[in-house]
Amino acid sequence: MTIPRIAAVETFIVTLPRDVPYLGPAAAGDRIVPGGYIVRAGNRTLYPTVDRSVIVKLTASDGSVGWGETYGIVAPRAVTEIVTDVLGPQLLGRDPREPVVIHEDLYDLMRVRNGSGGLWGDALAALDIAVWDLHGRLAGLSLAQLLGGRRQARIPAYASGLPGGTLEERVRMAQALHARGHDAIKFAGVVSHEGIAEEMAALRAALGPGVRLMVDLHWKFDAAQALALSERLAASSPLFIEAPCAPEDLEGQARVAAQSRVPVALGEEWHSVHEAMPRFERRAMAIVQPEMAHTGVTEFSQIARLAQAFHLQVMPHATIGTGLFLAASLQVASVLPNVPMHEYQHSVFDRYLPLLKTTMRCEAGHYTVPDGPGIGAEPAESLWAYAQAAGGVA
Ligand code: MG
Repeated sequence: MTIPRIAAVETFIVTLPRDVPYLGPAAAGDRIVPGGYIVRAGNRTLYPTVDRSVIVKLTASDGSVGWGETYGIVAPRAVTEIVTDVLGPQLLGRDPREPVVIHEDLYDLMRVRNGSGGLWGDALAALDIAVWDLHGRLAGLSLAQLLGGRRQARIPAYASGLPGGTLEERVRMAQALHARGHDAIKFAGVVSHEGIAEEMAALRAALGPGVRLMVDLHWKFDAAQALALSERLAASSPLFIEAPCAPEDLEGQARVAAQSRVPVALGEEWHSVHEAMPRFERRAMAIVQPEMAHTGVTEFSQIARLAQAFHLQVMPHATIGTGLFLAASLQVASVLPNVPMHEYQHSVFDRYLPLLKTTMRCEAGHYTVPDGPGIGAEPAESLWAYAQAAGGVA
């Protein structure tokens, strides 16, 4: 039997317009800057005004195809250039049944050039997802089957983001999500213009005690500030606070996790287990939030399995994309015993689902994990047509 080999690597930057920026309309102090970006005054960080991601396509020598995707929010051409110039050529001729070996080989290439994360890590993630997808398609197995077997076909989906301009609007959005079956809702503290504790209290009052509430603090605070805020939030009994301190402030993260009455969630910015490990050792969180678009399948699995060994829960992060890396995230989450919920970006997921060929759904507060093979999702023709018409494919 001839083993199919990876024969071609292609990249696509897909840009899709939005009426309202992710996280909500621009507010006082926010700056719209060239390139499709907005700088949020709340945490001085860059966010997109459009939806954009990088898709990679692998074609094997027998014509089989594998799909991957990563962040395209910031400098997407840097990501595609890493693939085109460095990583793609390394994949040619490789056996797609060896995704872990390939991942380790690609990771090692940039070890001494500060290449363990950042946009390099994003490029690695997209290719890792695509190699696993191709492996699954060639084997006729889902990613979950390749990883040891599916535990759950439906995963509770917590609704993320209330992109309204006022607290009143955001409360109404939360009520609408609750009415659609979501009993767990997270809001973004960076756009809580009326106050974070005030927003939490308003949501609790409007939704009652049965809804689990969470807030993303977007790395805004030092440990003392985060602990003071956590005390105020505790009155509203949130399920967790996310990212209270800067990623660089490992000691602050650990201190908040140790002293806060509200559990802490971390991890969306990590690219590999090496960022997770020192935080696990310091018990810097109760809940781990790996993001498939940063980690790929291989590192996501490593982080989640290590979290299991540390008796931590995993609630995977979900960001802006067409849904390809989300399908991979659901596949891996479905295998794990420690995933009570997965994030659901309602303002992103629902818009692009019709542009994919997949059985993946999010209905009545639950994701349906897509059937395979591979990640269980691929672009439909409509995705290319819509992107071309709306914003462009590069
Ligand atoms: Mg977050």
